[in-house]
Amino acid sequence: MPIVSVGPVCARRGCTRPEWKDRLCARCWRLAALFGRDPRLFAYEPLDGYTDERDAVPLPWGDLEREAGARGVPIADVIARREPGSARDRPM
Ligand SMILES: [Zn+2]
Repeated sequence: MPIVSVGPVCARRGCTRPEWKDRLCARCWRLAALFGRDPRLFAYEPLDGYTDERDAVPLPWGDLEREAGARGVPIADVIARREPGSARDRPM
């Protein structure tokens, strides 16, 4: 994999915008918030969608394990973390 010198980009597959927060660019991060999703997991939903039902993007289990260990909670709690007041209540 070539070294990219322009700084970190969005972690979402197929997205080349500069990283903004939680490894996502601002656009993808806001999209994740809109859907009430964990931004770090949203990064693993490809921009173009999955090519078929067996297509998948690996989850960052190492990062999740480190965060779970640092916070002393199970990994499931890290994944299930929801920001209060998420976009679920938004008017359609
Ligand atoms: Zn993005």
